[in-house]
Amino acid sequence: MGIPVTKSELFDVGAVVAAVQRAVGTPEGTLGLHEPVFAGNEVAYLEQCIKSTFVSSVGEFVDRFENMLEELTGARRAIAVVNGTAALHVCFRLAGVEPGEEVMSPALTFIATTNAISYCGATPHFVDSSFDTLGMDSRALAARLDAVAQRSSTGTVNRESGRRIAAIVPMHTYGHPVDLDGIAAIARQWAIPLVEDAAESLGSTYNGHMVGSQARLAALSFNGNKIVTTGGGGAILTNDDELGRRAKHLTTTAKLPHKWAFVHDEIGFNYRMPNLNAALGCAQLEQLDGFLKRKRALAAAYDRAFAAVPGIQFAREPEGAGSNYWLNAILLDEAHAGSRDELLTALNASGFGARPAWTLMHRLPMFAGCPRGDLRVAESIERRLINLPSSASIQVRDD
Ligand SMILES: *Cc1c(COP(=O)(O)O)cnc(C)c1O
Repeated sequence: MGIPVTKSELFDVGAVVAAVQRAVGTPEGTLGLHEPVFAGNEVAYLEQCIKSTFVSSVGEFVDRFENMLEELTGARRAIAVVNGTAALHVCFRLAGVEPGEEVMSPALTFIATTNAISYCGATPHFVDSSFDTLGMDSRALAARLDAVAQRSSTGTVNRESGRRIAAIVPMHTYGHPVDLDGIAAIARQWAIPLVEDAAESLGSTYNGHMVGSQARLAALSFNGNKIVTTGGGGAILTNDDELGRRAKHLTTTAKLPHKWAFVHDEIGFNYRMPNLNAALGCAQLEQLDGFLKRKRALAAAYDRAFAAVPGIQFAREPEGAGSNYWLNAILLDEAHAGSRDELLTALNASGFGARPAWTLMHRLPMFAGCPRGDLRVAESIERRLINLPSSASIQVRDD
């Protein structure tokens, strides 16, 4: 009879650290989770912007940045704003989300998705995620709507709460596209508008198109940790010219164009991206192709390194979709979920800025009372997922 061992002792934490080292080597200091890369025209454009004195809400870099986004994504209109949360807020407003209504949302997301719903006075209604995409599960969405929703003269209503279901917001987790065809079909069936939270997925593809390019309304983020950054920033993408015009109007204080008069025709937002941030963004977008290549090479290196580690799966892009691999992720087998924190400690002690998934939204005090379906997949992912250092600057060891 030996000393009893716990499950976590059976799990080889050292083998996981070794796999990360096989992929990216042993860092000098710490490899952050996601660090920006400024290797292009950043300084030149910023200097040009400062010399022009147009650093704030008017300037040519904002137009240029929006044009570059349109060209790059294939969306008809791109409207640059101060951050991704503001982009989502305006998307929900334009989708018609009103106070006292509900928005179907994944519980596994960054707080920005849920905050933006709340800014409209609406309530998130959480649905489960999928192991294949890490995003909203179309089957779980269908099941939840079948269970609680009812068509009425005012739209689709949650029978239990009496509130109208005003939008569905799938999010492309870590850059992996959701099952958009499945979710869009359900949205059409129930006549509920779709808003895509594409904050993490610039450069990802679905059905051969850039994510966000086919959307009536999608939100991007250019926060410092995203695949390209403007410092802080975001954008609204739309394929509808009228929505594009409305988005620009609402995000620029709803001011009517005039040579000198200050006339505003509704309560708008001061959400326009400053020219200074757009200058940085133009330089960053010029490098997106290179970032995407490096991030795919990094993901492939992690995938190879973890193929030999029992009890762990590398999160690959969903079949038929292309991920920008914004953040790489591994999933421990359920039996090893208890080792997650030990593993996080070991990875960070070895200089790898590994992080857990976000705490699920329904566990946060502000959203604990919100309506929700069964969330067992999201809860399982939350227990088992670890994000690994994913910067485009990381040198793959066997490059
Ligand atoms: C980054 C992010 C946003 C937007 O965040 P901001 O910091 O406001 O730009 C929105 N949703 C998700 C899922 C994100 O990861």
